[in-house]
This record gives sequence, structure tokens and C-alpha cells, in this order.
Amino acid sequence: MTDVNHWIAGDRVAGERRIDVFNPASGEAIRRVALGDAATVERAIAAAREAQPTWRDLPPAKRAQVMFRFKMLLERDADEICQLVAEEHGKVLEDAMGELKRGIENVEYACGVAELLKGEYSHNAGPGIDTWSNHQPLGIVAGITPFNFPAMVPLWMYPMAIACGNAFILKPSEQVPSATIKMAELLDEAGLPRGLFNVVHGDREAVEALIDAPDVRALSFVGSTPVAKAIYRRGAENGKRVQALGGAKNHAVVLPDADLDNAASTLIGAAFGSAGERCMAISVAVCVGHDTADALVGKLADEARTLKIGPGTERGLDMGALVNAAHRDKVAGYIEQGAAAGAELVVDGRTHPLVEESKGYFLGASLFDRVTPEMGIYRDEIFGPVLCVVRVDTFEEAIALINAHQYGNGTCVFTRDGEAARRFADAIEVGMVGINVPLPVPVAFHSFGGWKESLFGDLHAYGPDAVRFYTRRKAVSQRWPERSAQERAQFSFPS
Ligand code: NAD
Repeated sequence: MTDVNHWIAGDRVAGERRIDVFNPASGEAIRRVALGDAATVERAIAAAREAQPTWRDLPPAKRAQVMFRFKMLLERDADEICQLVAEEHGKVLEDAMGELKRGIENVEYACGVAELLKGEYSHNAGPGIDTWSNHQPLGIVAGITPFNFPAMVPLWMYPMAIACGNAFILKPSEQVPSATIKMAELLDEAGLPRGLFNVVHGDREAVEALIDAPDVRALSFVGSTPVAKAIYRRGAENGKRVQALGGAKNHAVVLPDADLDNAASTLIGAAFGSAGERCMAISVAVCVGHDTADALVGKLADEARTLKIGPGTERGLDMGALVNAAHRDKVAGYIEQGAAAGAELVVDGRTHPLVEESKGYFLGASLFDRVTPEMGIYRDEIFGPVLCVVRVDTFEEAIALINAHQYGNGTCVFTRDGEAARRFADAIEVGMVGINVPLPVPVAFHSFGGWKESLFGDLHAYGPDAVRFYTRRKAVSQRWPERSAQERAQFSFPS
């Protein structure tokens, strides 16, 4: 069994505490990852402190060249990265490649950093006075990322933070540490000076050391809502800039005029892709009218029963295992709870043969019909392969239902009616909206973020908001008085 160590200034640093990393498809421990403490975090900060001033002073176009080489290397080694993701997370290889491609988009966007940092300029803002504002890096910034996108979510953060002139410390999920270390090696090969990208593995101890370290100026967090809230609060108390993205419960509204074949097959992918372990997974289908619901549930059930499930590292599958045994059991517990609460369990993923036959953490796809808003399976984020159908009578009822939910990450509407689609996009209290697009994850040149309990902070992740998040503005006013002019003291406010 190999060890996964911290990465500090290009050195692999071992730790005293370690935990096993599992392959969810076999249930076997395959690696051991180091868990960092305050001393590990301090060592990463010292490396960052030393490297950042020289990096900050490089022209942005030179910093972008490193990102350009990094992008080429990510593409060269994409298969290897996806293998690590599939092995430790359990998702299927094609899905891992999808997340990596979306991650690489962010590196491409960071290659344009010279343009993005250009700032604003006013000639003759006052008599003989020119004013400009520019963006300057914060110094040392940190990211804390979840298990479910081992490649993509870290790539939302550090390429832009580093391209803006910062040093970055990443605390990836301890359940999926290896893809991050592979990408650290590629940044090194791309020529990034050492100390600008450091990885401290670990759990709460490492995270709290990062939040409490005065030299860490900003924190980007992606994970569950309770942890997002706690980090946002403690980071703010420590005077840091914080963006903390949390959990989700994403609804798809299906109107009676929708193309139901298309809605059903795209919903199946959006609900069960990555075994539902996506913050943008659709976990509720809101059907307007009983005829719509009857027709849709029939189609969904047929597709859910025939999903190809198996080890993520095998090709041609739809869905892999869940990330760990405790999470699989928690999801199975929700299926039990939903049935006991009176929802109609149309397809029961617990009966899939792999649940019995395999030592991996498998569950088949589950489909509930006639779910109601007070049920736990509706209120809570399950984060597994469970799709709930809620029946409503009107479109307005569907909008009100979604707006009353605690989460507001993503949503979508299936319809052929432009007026209804426009009303939905305007009225819905959710940060990312799809119109016949079930997973409306914005491309890298737009920013990503939910509303309500799905995001704490002002700025969203990646895209233009990332440039704002990882820099601070400075406004400079300059005047070059004529040498002969006699300046007199001015006591009134300059106007
Ligand atoms: P998690 O909150 O358990 O862990 C996220 C990170 O925080 C990990 O690095 C973990 O080590 C660390 N952590 C865990 N507990 C902590 C604590 N008490 N104090 C400090 N740090 C702690 O989340 P997860 O299970 O890894 O990921 C799944 C969750 O992430 C889901 O809720 C999902 O919706 C959410 N998520 C949200 C988005 C988004 O963009 N909104 C994207 C991906 C995942």
C-alpha cells in the first residue's frame, strides 16, 4: 500500500497521523494518506510566504505561460488522472473525464489573466489628475474541497488564484487525495516556482489551522452546508475573505407540454450520474399534472431499472459505487425512511444484485413517486442515487415549492413554452437555472454559485468572480504639477 504525502514547496512531506484511502468498488484500502496539523500548515505557509513576492511581481502574461503549459500537461496525462479519480471516488471513467475537461476549462480561462487584470483608467479624472484602479493579489489563499469532484473543484480555485499572483494552499478531501498530488507534479513540470502551490492533506485539524492562520487572507470552501457555515463564520471572525459553497437539493420542473422522452432520459443522467454524488444532481422531479407524472414515472422507472452499474474503472458503465460504506448506508437509510413515510418506492436500489454480491459500496438507482414536502427524503440532501417525484397541480405551485426549499443551487424546467421558461428563470430563487438543460453548470467564463443555504459569501466560484475574489482593488490618483506653479494649501475637500 503506497503513502500519499503532503506537497510543500515540491517536497513530499510525511505526517505522523495517517488514514486509509479506499477503493469504493472493492471496499479495499489502497493507499494511506497523511493528515496534517498546525505545524504542517505553518510549513506550507512559510513556503508560500517565501515564493509569493517574486511571483506577484512577474508580468501576468508570464504567469499565464505556466498555466498554458499546465493545461497541455493535464491533457497529456488525462487518462492517468481519471484512473486515480475513478479508483478513489468510485465514479465511472467517462464521468471522471467529463469533470477533468470542465476543470481544464478553468485553466484555459486563467490563461487570459493579463486581460482579466487590466483594470480601469480615467484620463483627466480631475484637473491634471489621472485615476486608475487595478487588482492586486491578496498574498496567500487557501482552498478546502469535497470528495465528489477530486479534479474539477480544486481546478475551480487554484489556477486563477495563482495566475492572479497569489500562493495557494489546498486541503483536498482526505477520501480522494491522489489526483491532487498528480496535478501538483504537473504544475511543477509546467515550471511553477516551488512554494506557490502546496497541498496539506487532512481533516478538521488542518482546516482549522488554515482558518486561524493570520497569513492566509482568503478561503474558498466547497462541501456540505453545516461545514460551509462553520467555516464562513470562523473565517469571517478571523477577518478573512470567505466563499463557502454548500449542499443542494436540485429540482427539475416538468411541464405538460415538455418532450417527455427527452426529459426522462436527460433526467436519468442528471439524477444518477456519479451515483447522485453531485451538488448539481437533480434529486427532485416536480411534475405539473397527474398525466405528466404518470407518463414520466413510467419512463424513468424503465430507465432506472436498466442502468449499467459496476466498478468505475471499467469502461461503458453508467454508474459506479458510492464513496464509502457509511455514506452508502446513510443513503440506504433514506430509502427505508421514505418508504416508511408513505412515499411510493417505484424502483428500490437496495435490491440491485451488486449490493449483496460485491464488497464495494454499491446501490442501484431508486425512484420514489408521490413524495410530499414534509418528508425527510424531500427536505434533506441525500447525495446518492435517489430521485423523488413530487406531483403538483400548477406551474405556480412548482415555483413556490422550489422557492420555499432551504437550498438554491441549481434547477431546471422542461417545456416547449418560451413564456413559461422566461417566467421560471425570472421568478425562481436559485443561483443556476437550466431551460431544458438539467445540469446548468456554467462554463468557465461565467461564475458558479447557488443561493440560500447553498452558498455563504458574496462572490461565486470561478469565472469573473474568481478574479474579484482572489484580488483586491486599488485606486491610484496621480498628478504631475508644473514645476513653476506655486501650490497653496487647500482646506476644503478636493472637488
Ligand atoms: P464535507 O463538508 O464533509 O467535506 C468537505 C471538506 O471539508 C473536506 O475537505 C473535509 O475534509 C473538510 N471537513 C469535513 N468536516 C469538517 C469540519 N468539521 N471542519 C472542517 N473541515 C471539515 O463534504 P463532502 O462530503 O466531502 O462533499 C459532499 C458535499 O459537498 C455535499 O453536501 C455537496 O452538495 C457539497 N458540494 C457542493 C458543491 C457546490 O458547488 N455547492 C460542489 C461539490 C460538492
